[in-house]
Amino acid sequence: MSEELAEAPAPLTKKEARKAQGFEMAPARCLNCTRFDPPRHGVPPIGDRPAVPYKPPLCGIGGFEVRPSSICDEWVGKGGETLDGAPEVANITTEQFDRAFDAVVSGSEPASE
Ligand code: SF4
Repeated sequence: MSEELAEAPAPLTKKEARKAQGFEMAPARCLNCTRFDPPRHGVPPIGDRPAVPYKPPLCGIGGFEVRPSSICDEWVGKGGETLDGAPEVANITTEQFDRAFDAVVSGSEPASE
């Protein structure tokens, strides 16, 4: 084995790569905003039941159409956190994700903080 190969750093594990990249499992977006008004799937009329029209996802404040991956300055998370100055409660940290992932793989309860 050449000296160069022997000194090459080992590739990162997936856990290490997530941490190194600052990965966020659930960053702030319309989908996890308390004002998100989810879509309703349309259903055609069946027998005596009338059709249910499709409704797109809407912003509960402005009433305009959004995408689950959208975001605006008025985002509010389930813990009341906002984009400016509030703690980053909406995002799962890499460590929290790792614990949850390990728990799923092992079939055990995730360890608490
Ligand atoms: S547009 Fe803003 S306030 Fe409305 S649901 Fe999306 S993030 Fe929330």
